[in-house]
Amino acid sequence: MPELGVKIWGSRGSTPVSGPQALHFGGETTCLQICAGTHSLIVDCGSGARPLGKLLLAGEQRKFDILFTHVHLDHINGLPFFAPAYRSDFHLTLTACHLKSEVKLREAICRIMSPPVFPVNINSLHTSSFVVRPMDLAWQVGEGLKVTPIALNHPGGACGYRFDVGGKSIAIITDHESGNASIDAQIEKTINGCDILIHDAMYTDAEYTHFRGYGHSTWQYVIALAKRANVKTPVIFHHEPDRTDAELRQIEVEAQQQLKTALVARDGMYLSA
Ligand SMILES: [Zn+2]
Ligand SMILES: [Zn+2]
Repeated sequence: MPELGVKIWGSRGSTPVSGPQALHFGGETTCLQICAGTHSLIVDCGSGARPLGKLLLAGEQRKFDILFTHVHLDHINGLPFFAPAYRSDFHLTLTACHLKSEVKLREAICRIMSPPVFPVNINSLHTSSFVVRPMDLAWQVGEGLKVTPIALNHPGGACGYRFDVGGKSIAIITDHESGNASIDAQIEKTINGCDILIHDAMYTDAEYTHFRGYGHSTWQYVIALAKRANVKTPVIFHHEPDRTDAELRQIEVEAQQQLKTALVARDGMYLSA
């Protein structure tokens, strides 16, 4: 059975950051690489997709699925700088589940890939295809990797994903605000028993009162959810841009006091399921 793992190329939310306060955890926005044996796929093309793209040019795989959780800027801003998108020997399948049609997905990307916003037109992505899948239907990619979409509570809609192969599993919930009972229940059911859960934890409980309705959760919620859903390793993710390395280290200490296996996501981190 292929080994299942995830490499985090971007763990910030909202906007990329740089500077001495973000040296350890990094400053790229959402981009994750799911590795199942020799095959890999990509979840979101935030700014972390730029260094990932450079690495993929040197590999052997030429067909990639890019699954979008949604098309907010922090999740697509790396696509115009994703080198394989411009290579005729690569083929990318850009997939979303929260939109109504392929046209809507193409239109959203077109907003950041057309003059005068960006000099290169979306038509330059000539080997990419755009796909919209139903939210309630799992499918398979690569060597038997099962992908299960999960509806999230986020402005404009969003979709999480659970990946399963050979009895191992990883769930990715990038942008989700808890509080919608039926969506929360469905997420808890879908991620049950996961080896790794990478989950939006933009805020602390104390901060959350000021950011209700912004579409994000707290790290305390993620730890409680992980306990209820028997998740082995919860990973605190989608960091607030102003969150410093010192603050994230402190969050990790406090999270591990509640659940020993908890981690805070860091750009460049690889986790094996
Ligand atoms: Zn986001
Ligand atoms: Zn968002």
